[in-house]
Amino acid sequence: MTGTTLPTTEDLRTRARDSLAALGVTVPEGDDFSARSPITGDDLFGLRAATAADTEETIAATREAFLTWRTTPAPRRGELVRRLGELLRDHKGELADLITIEAGKIRSEALGEVQEMIDICDFAVGLSRQLYGRTIASERPGHRLAETWHPLGVVGVISAFNFPAAVWSWNTAVALACGDTVIWKPSELTPLISLACDRLLTQAAEDVGAPRDVHRLLLGDRTTGEKLVDDPRIALISATGSTRMGREVGPRVAARFGRSLLELGGNNAAVVAPSADLDLAVQGIVFAAAGTAGQRCTTLRRLIVHRDIADTLIARLTAAYRKLPIGDPFDETTLVGPLISTTALDTMQDALTRAQAEGGKILAGGNRRLADAAPRAGYAEPVLVRVDAQTDVVREETFAPILYVQTYDTLEEAIALHNDVPQGLSSSIFTRDQQEAELFLSAEGSDCGIANVNIGTSGAEIGGAFGGEKETGGGRESGSDAWRAYMRSATNTINYSSRLALAQNVSFL
Ligand code: NAD
Repeated sequence: MTGTTLPTTEDLRTRARDSLAALGVTVPEGDDFSARSPITGDDLFGLRAATAADTEETIAATREAFLTWRTTPAPRRGELVRRLGELLRDHKGELADLITIEAGKIRSEALGEVQEMIDICDFAVGLSRQLYGRTIASERPGHRLAETWHPLGVVGVISAFNFPAAVWSWNTAVALACGDTVIWKPSELTPLISLACDRLLTQAAEDVGAPRDVHRLLLGDRTTGEKLVDDPRIALISATGSTRMGREVGPRVAARFGRSLLELGGNNAAVVAPSADLDLAVQGIVFAAAGTAGQRCTTLRRLIVHRDIADTLIARLTAAYRKLPIGDPFDETTLVGPLISTTALDTMQDALTRAQAEGGKILAGGNRRLADAAPRAGYAEPVLVRVDAQTDVVREETFAPILYVQTYDTLEEAIALHNDVPQGLSSSIFTRDQQEAELFLSAEGSDCGIANVNIGTSGAEIGGAFGGEKETGGGRESGSDAWRAYMRSATNTINYSSRLALAQNVSFL
């Protein structure tokens, strides 16, 4: 199925201008690069990128603001985040419009992304009164040992196109509550939503009397990101994107002994056991694999199905895939919008060619759509591919809606297949057998940072730490005690006796 006709580029340009005007954004027009919409594949407006001088001034200003912000009591810092959350609530519709225009997300997912920003603000406001350190029992009489948490410094946030706003908010809401200041280098593919978020945070800072430079935005491509990566004044680089990017960023930050928090690619799988509730599994699988046009880091890319139920499940999935409405993401009936670009479409088609050369068989989908209506856009049918082995292409993350289906006989074999990829982000098992579920969640089960039961791999909520192992980079954000990455700890030994006692009974003098 194909949704209704697409909007024109002029419609999109007007809608973007209206949303930006409602948010009070002044667009830095220029001819360094363009804001663009994957809905038609056309440019919307030319923009000015940050120069080297802008970057230098921004680093100096956020460093200066840090000196004030770090001494502002944490619950007062929380007031800034609370105000940001209120402004996000007030402008949910306009922000979602910009996400749909620039990232091509369907309306409910774009609104969901803004909701996630609101949720992390609520979380961080609470956190601003819960930055707990521990008291540790001292071996010496009249002594107290304490762990204190202090703000870290300037945090550089580098983000990807596919969660163009939420990933920023995960980092920024928590970093601000922790007493850090933030420089954001968003994806060059999604500048407009970043201008909107920056505007709202500037407004929030004005409203609560926080320093103007607690947050700054730098538009530009990877070269702007690289300046932050290499600058010793940036205490933490939180970088979200491809494993290729993380492989470059991680060692460069480490070379200057900076800290990095990496959220990189996934190659997520679900195991479907014989006892699974298939109605629930089909829904969970189709959303996780085809939702967001396969462009989530947690998108389901591999399905490992027990041989006894494989034919039944595949038949149901094939039928569901054939009915997926593809087209204009603003149309309420559309479930699958465009890929970010025709380059992404070419990458998807190359992967399918390779999968077939490696023995895979296409079961449903895989064709390009709307090529006549939008020749510069990349609409594609989500595709199911039957494979007999985890070949090279299956072990890679292709950022498109391709689901590779393979079968297993024993759960041990399924878990081994599951873990036999370089990435380790999200995973799930569909089963009604508690022993199987517990084994999958245990130390000898899934090796991912996220492991679910009877729900797909995507769609995490705020509160649980998000991130993954192996080539996914090891970072954790947006919940649990992930806030500690944005602070530094100090251990304090306080002697409140009048004797100097040395540890380990050492005598001296
Ligand atoms: P990308 O790696 O192309 O770009 C991400 C960001 O990194 C952009 O802002 C880009 O300008 C910047 N960048 C690239 N190379 C850089 C370098 N050498 N130094 C500094 N900055 C650099 O990723 P993308 O195509 O925008 O996003 C898709 C990828 O992101 C997928 O692999 C997806 O799995 C991953 N992702 C991961 C998570 C997660 O939380 N694990 C979340 C979202 C997306």
